Amino acid sequence: MAGRSLGAVVALALLLLAGCAARVEAPAAAAAAPAEAQPTGPLAGQVIVLDPGHGNHTGEHSAAGDWEDDNVLAVAEDTAPLLTAMGATVHLTRTGPDLLGSQNNTDLTARVADAIRWHADVFVSIHENYFNGSQVATGVETFWANPNSKALAQDLQTAVAAGTGLQNRGVDSRPYWVIACNPMPAVLIEAGFLSNPAEAALISTPAFQEQEAQAIAGGLEMYLTTRGVPVGATPLRGENKYMCTSMNPVQANTWLLAMGE
Ligand SMILES: [Zn+2]
Repeated sequence: MAGRSLGAVVALALLLLAGCAARVEAPAAAAAAPAEAQPTGPLAGQVIVLDPGHGNHTGEHSAAGDWEDDNVLAVAEDTAPLLTAMGATVHLTRTGPDLLGSQNNTDLTARVADAIRWHADVFVSIHENYFNGSQVATGVETFWANPNSKALAQDLQTAVAAGTGLQNRGVDSRPYWVIACNPMPAVLIEAGFLSNPAEAALISTPAFQEQEAQAIAGGLEMYLTTRGVPVGATPLRGENKYMCTSMNPVQANTWLLAMGE
């Protein structure tokens, strides 16, 4: 009995030592790996900018007090890791509650300047809608401003409508500064109406925001893997170029209102 017990103790000690040896070896093996592994996945090499609209509670809000800028930041924060997991490099124009810069002009121009500086392949601005005239307006719509962006708008609109169950209002052209004055494919999604109390409650839930994030990531994967980003310089539409080169965003808004946009 005593001999077998001693043998068992020795065997156990050897096992423990072997375990220790394995544990010591593991970090050494990890340290030998390349310091910066290249990302892999269907979106490897793509640079995606997610642009949560507004900040400082300058956007819209529901009657219940849910703010557009808080909701869309949550959506962008949910979307980023899904894209990173597919190999993309992802930048958010805003990671906190504040506007970029002290006023609308600097905020909007900074978003575009950052996207250009980051060499973005695509730019997705995330917003929520508001309609003064009625509480029943509902659904999601996606805007593009330059012809290089229409296909991206269509793919994201299809994905977000299907993925969230929101009514599909389709895509349209609208010269919003962050997409009109942006050389890369750039779109602006308005997902849900804060003026509709039921829809506002829905789109302010973390579960919906995660659904929307999944849909945006899926739409971007569809676009980037099947359509590809247009190669080479993509000039701004004529009237957008005039607006972007001769005015600041606030002047541009005034000009657009005067033109009936
Ligand atoms: Zn907005």
